[in-house]
Amino acid sequence: MREATAVGPERRRFEVPAAELLQAVAASVRGLETGADSPMAERVSSLVGEAGEAFVAAARPRGLWQRISRAAFEEVLHADGASEPATPLAQVIEDAAELALFAVTLGDAIAQRVAHLFAAGDLAGGYILDQIASQAADELAQRAARLFEAAAPRAGSAALPYSPGYCGWNVAGQHSLFAALEPAEIGISLNDSCLMQPLKSVSGVLVLAPLAAHDFSPAFPCCAGCATLDCRERVAALAARLAAG
Ligand code: SF4
Repeated sequence: MREATAVGPERRRFEVPAAELLQAVAASVRGLETGADSPMAERVSSLVGEAGEAFVAAARPRGLWQRISRAAFEEVLHADGASEPATPLAQVIEDAAELALFAVTLGDAIAQRVAHLFAAGDLAGGYILDQIASQAADELAQRAARLFEAAAPRAGSAALPYSPGYCGWNVAGQHSLFAALEPAEIGISLNDSCLMQPLKSVSGVLVLAPLAAHDFSPAFPCCAGCATLDCRERVAALAARLAAG
């Protein structure tokens, strides 16, 4: 990873080599392959390898974060239509040591490559590259969190990314987030439907807080219809990382 570039006292920009990012998601990419006893195993393995090469050739992973006070972030979170009345994030930030808005992207070319594969009828190749890019974008958001942690280390605390579109922070919240962060300098824009361009981008807030703050009980109104329980997986991974030192 290229060392974070200071572009202001409260704002940092960074880049990650595509090959390094691909390596970081290697375990989950292997999950796209079939079992060795499948008649498709060799073909799928070959497709995954080709998609990895296409990813390295096309992706330009970069991101930025900008520190924000809790009061200023509460204005972002509670802007008109931005969030439900009760959200896990509103609770988590009560115990936050530091907050930062963030945005990361893989760039335009990777989405164009996926679209080209689908348009050419290569559904398997397009699907696999799309999955690799989605996993890499999530990993890039985690890189942003770790860079933020490193800039303001607090014993026993760790940063997790929280994004609009999840857990009661509505997609409409992208408007106030983008107004505060202005991520155009790394090539990310927002359309009227709150969809980010390039497509493989992630934005939100990095919350540096004790593990116990991230480990909330998922009993909020937004949790009633949740099928993923992603929050449990995230906090388990965070606990493992903190335990490993
Ligand atoms: S249960 Fe689902 S909706 Fe609720 S906090 Fe966890 S991931 Fe979000």
